[in-house]
Amino acid sequence: MNKYRLPVIMLAIFEAIAVTLWIVKDNLFYLFNFSYIGFSIALGIFLFIRKYKNARRVTQLLVGLYMLVYLGLICNENMQIEGFWYYLFTGVFEAATIHYAVAKIFGALIFGRGWCGYACWTAMVLDFLPYKVPERPRKKIGWIRYITFVISFLFVAALFLTHVDHIERIMFWAFITGNLLYYAVGIGLAFLFRDNRAFCKYICPITVFLKPMSYFSLLRVTCDTDECVSCGKCKQVCPMDVDMTDNSRARKNGTECILCYECVRNCPKNAL
Ligand code: SF4
Ligand code: SF4
Ligand code: SF4
Repeated sequence: MNKYRLPVIMLAIFEAIAVTLWIVKDNLFYLFNFSYIGFSIALGIFLFIRKYKNARRVTQLLVGLYMLVYLGLICNENMQIEGFWYYLFTGVFEAATIHYAVAKIFGALIFGRGWCGYACWTAMVLDFLPYKVPERPRKKIGWIRYITFVISFLFVAALFLTHVDHIERIMFWAFITGNLLYYAVGIGLAFLFRDNRAFCKYICPITVFLKPMSYFSLLRVTCDTDECVSCGKCKQVCPMDVDMTDNSRARKNGTECILCYECVRNCPKNAL
C-alpha cells in the first residue's frame, strides 16, 4: 500500500484546502471545487502507478474541461490571468485569485508545475498535437512571456482606469477571446516549431509566476546517479528539454518540468 502514498497525500492536501476555504469563505462551492480537483489528480496518479499509459491525460481532461466549460463558460468566471488581475483590482479574494494562489503561485512550491502537466485547459488541447517531443532545438525567445504578462495586466488596468460599464461582461468575453487566441497561437507555434509545448515555453504569461516558484518545488524528479547508465533515453522523451539527470535546483530547464513522468516511465534502470 506504500506505493499509493502519493495519491492519498495529494487528495489529503486538496481536501484540507477544500474544507478550509469552505469554512473561511462560508461557501459550499469551494468544498466541491477543490474536492473534485483533488480527486481528479489523485485518480491520475493512481492510474499512473497502475501503469496506465494515459493516466496524466485523464486528469488533464477531467480538470481542464471542468475549468474551461463549467467554471469559464457556464459560471462565467474568467480563470485566465486577466481574471486574476480583475479580482486583485476589485480587492476580492475570490475565484481566479484563489485559483492562482493555489495552483500557480504558492501551490507551485509543493507540486511545481503540476498544473501545466495535469490541469491546464490550453495544454489539454496542445497535447493532442503530433509533436509530443520537440523535433527542433529550443529557441531563445522566452522573453515574449514577459510581454504577454504586461499586456494582460495593462488590459485589465485600463478597464478599471477608464471606468468602463459592464466590466464583468467584458471579462467574460475576454475569457472567450483570450482562449481562442491562445489555442490559435499555441497550435500555430506547435506546427511551426514542431513542438506541442512551444506556447508554454515562449508565450504563456502564467509562467512568470510558475517558473520562479517551481524552482523551490518539493515534488521533483531526481536521479539515482549510482543506477544511471547515461543512456539518454529520459532526455529523448522529455517534452520540456529538462536535464533531469542533474539533481541540482539549477539544472537545465529545471523550472520547465511539468511532472509528466515520461522520463521516469522510459528509464530502463528505474534510476528516476
Ligand atoms: S505554461 Fe501556460 S499554457 Fe502551458 S501548461 Fe502551463 S499554464 Fe498552460
Ligand atoms: S534513462 Fe535512466 S539510465 Fe538512462 S540516462 Fe536517464 S536516468 Fe540514466
Ligand atoms: S519528462 Fe521528466 S523532466 Fe521532462 S517534463 Fe516530464 S517529468 Fe519533467
